[in-house]
Amino acid sequence: MRDDAGLQALREAARLSPDNLPLRQHLAAQLLERGYLAEAEAEFRAALVLAPGNPDIIAGLAEAFVRQSNYGPALAALDQLLAVPGYPPRLGVLAARALLGEGDVHAAARRYHEAVSRDPSAGDPELAAKLAIPAAPAATYPAPRQPYQAYPAPTPGQGYQYQQPAYQQAPTNQQSPPYQEQPPAYPQGQAYQQGQAYQQAPESSTEVERSGTSFADVAGMESVKEALRIKLLLPLQQPELFAAYGKRAGGGVLLYGPPGAGKTHLARAAAGELGASFVNVGLADILDMYVGSSERNLRATFDLARRNRPCVLFFDEVDALAARRSDMRQAHARQLVNQFLAELDGVDQSANEGVLVLAATNAPWYVDVAFRRPGRLDQPVFVPPPDAAARAAILRILCRDKPLAEMDFDAVARATEHCVGADLKGVVDRAVEAKLQQSISAGRPLPLSTPDLLAAAGSVRPTAVREWMATARNYVMHANDSGAWDELMPWVKGKW
Ligand code: ADP
Repeated sequence: MRDDAGLQALREAARLSPDNLPLRQHLAAQLLERGYLAEAEAEFRAALVLAPGNPDIIAGLAEAFVRQSNYGPALAALDQLLAVPGYPPRLGVLAARALLGEGDVHAAARRYHEAVSRDPSAGDPELAAKLAIPAAPAATYPAPRQPYQAYPAPTPGQGYQYQQPAYQQAPTNQQSPPYQEQPPAYPQGQAYQQGQAYQQAPESSTEVERSGTSFADVAGMESVKEALRIKLLLPLQQPELFAAYGKRAGGGVLLYGPPGAGKTHLARAAAGELGASFVNVGLADILDMYVGSSERNLRATFDLARRNRPCVLFFDEVDALAARRSDMRQAHARQLVNQFLAELDGVDQSANEGVLVLAATNAPWYVDVAFRRPGRLDQPVFVPPPDAAARAAILRILCRDKPLAEMDFDAVARATEHCVGADLKGVVDRAVEAKLQQSISAGRPLPLSTPDLLAAAGSVRPTAVREWMATARNYVMHANDSGAWDELMPWVKGKW
């Protein structure tokens, strides 16, 4: 990949004018085109904060996700666009790639054929070849998934604002508009204040899980696990000791690092380690195009965690919910950040007792500094890409329930430089699939061997660590006034 002066100038211009939406969109598109995927993702996210719901930005973000093999978030991002009748066929093709990546070949094929039947030029021969199953007739095409809750009818004459969806190019032979207005849960333009009475928040659509994993399932990361133990686990396990020092169990940690490095895995394991319930919150659970609804969803999610304490409340991609308010033009986007801060603080001292907030981001530099204050996400913890020893340990964990020959995990670790946990999972999945085929042909189960993993490793391309380090280097070197990223210094100076 060639980084040219034009791109550098664009980056610099965007840094100087963070509010300039067209500029940031252009930079994001250029980064995407040139394959700087992690950086493109971060730029699209920043642009989305400036223009929430903008379909072009969401589509760009989804493409950045798909190209990093991050299929779940891509589908979550695309859902709202695909729910609009007559959505652009190229988005259907993108969704098909994501569905295929998730292993849902049939849904991918349906989505692909539906899209290409409307616009053959959107076709992708390589993808079509992978989806070599007959096209489903249009009549059986299922309704797109609806991530959002059904909305109650608006209260007439309330005069609340809602954000006009920018996405209007759908051919509309239908009677009713695809979007409906939504009444706010509480007065607009005010932060959630201590003691203030609001309309009852609705039930959260997020589910409460019981985690089946513990720190024993997380390979390596000893210092990260230790930091979580001290911050989160010990106060709950030894409350008297902490009470003696006037400390309570609760509070939050911001996990940051390259995508796929194991942040979600770690959060789930922390819940298991503690015997706490686990609430995994994705962007689609919170973000909503209606002014006021995102705040309401956020509140309902915190309430759900409070009802299920002790609870680990995990926010993935938190930079989108906790972005720097100085970067935002629209008051309602700042409102969500204010609400998030207020929820973290709680209405009184004991509101969040036993609620441990873990938040993950690939782009910690976009998180508002107010989140770093005591009692909030005050402890940033870097989740690094695994070194060779950690990669071997991850592989050992990923293979432990499989029939194995004698394994040389160190050799596989050496062959998977720059791979993160998610990539290694891809290597093992691929090797298992190949072995399964061989076992079917042989008529007996064949154990997985080192050459199987090495062969699979040869065909897996490490995801975004190198690009992530390049982006991180920019911030560490040029925007590290408060020393917030000192921990990253030795990493970004390394060879990637
Ligand atoms: P992130 O949240 O940082 O994007 P994930 O937690 O989703 O990454 O990691 C993807 C997968 O990689 C996990 O589901 C897990 O199977 C595997 N993985 C990552 N790190 C580890 C680790 N340290 N030990 C064991 N498995 C890991």
